[in-house]
Amino acid sequence: MGNKRIGWIGLGNMGIPMARNLLRAGFEVTVYNRTAAKAAPLEEAGAKLAASPAALWEVSDILITMVADDAALKAIYSGGFLAGLSGPAAASGKMVIDMSTVSPATSRELAGHLAEKGVEYLDAPVAGSVKPAELGQLVIMAGGKKEAYEAALPIFAKLGKASFLMGEQGAGNAAKLAMNTLLAFNMQGLAEAVIFAREKGIRPEAMLEVVAESAVANGVTKMKTANIVEDNYIAAFALKHLAKDLRLALSQGMHTPGGIAMHDSYQQALAAGWGEKDISAIFPFMMGEKA
Ligand code: NAP
Repeated sequence: MGNKRIGWIGLGNMGIPMARNLLRAGFEVTVYNRTAAKAAPLEEAGAKLAASPAALWEVSDILITMVADDAALKAIYSGGFLAGLSGPAAASGKMVIDMSTVSPATSRELAGHLAEKGVEYLDAPVAGSVKPAELGQLVIMAGGKKEAYEAALPIFAKLGKASFLMGEQGAGNAAKLAMNTLLAFNMQGLAEAVIFAREKGIRPEAMLEVVAESAVANGVTKMKTANIVEDNYIAAFALKHLAKDLRLALSQGMHTPGGIAMHDSYQQALAAGWGEKDISAIFPFMMGEKA
């Protein structure tokens, strides 16, 4: 695996630190990004550049995608890339790993197309934001064949602190949508506790100190406390992406009351213009502030 050539598509908040970790680990990495300028820091870190997804495919044994959503992923595949896959690829034992959060249905669809060409496919979305991505501390939830998963483990070991095979293709993203429903609860719950306390005359900082020392504190409450205190909502995980994940969960049959409420709340925040801000911007949104 160490001498396998990695192709990387998607250099956003997550893709840049993840691809950089693979370079640091000694993998040969070639990158492509729709906005070519964003590849500059990776080139400095030793990556080669490809001019298109199709050109990247030619020089990759394992292709990893980390893009925004279903539309982005499908745009990459339909943009001549899937069509270009032919016989030789089947013999070459190439593999695609999609680490974006997309619909399980999309994962199964792309896996089906690639299987026809003899290419293995894993969906392997991640839990953890930019900081864990930088530290190689993500949690990876994969869907696909056991052999493909095991072949990907040396890569996952450099990107994350834990990885799990959840089932067949699509299962990684089903698990991820469940995780992000819980993330939405955690974030909105923190915001609601602070808002209620504030209305009762308690300063947000004082309330957040209590939360931090209590049994209801968790990674999300700890990570997002500073955003609320400092009134700083620069995106680590953009609200538009969580709103997208909740839409996906709903479209995949999520029907429980809290999940539906989270879906509605984050769509409203998105519609009010908070999409490019961090998910913690659900707090100023619920406070009635303007984006
Ligand atoms: P991001 O910063 O918004 O970056 C999105 C990437 O997708 C960029 O490289 C962008 O290219 C590319 N892209 C978007 N539309 C495209 C299209 N139509 N064709 C080709 N490329 C396109 O997103 P991110 O925060 O890195 O997140 C990436 C994925 O990981 C998402 O599915 C997200 O839900 C998931 N995720 C994010 C976090 C987090 O904390 N950020 C955590 C876990 C999972 P351009 O540079 O050209 O725009």
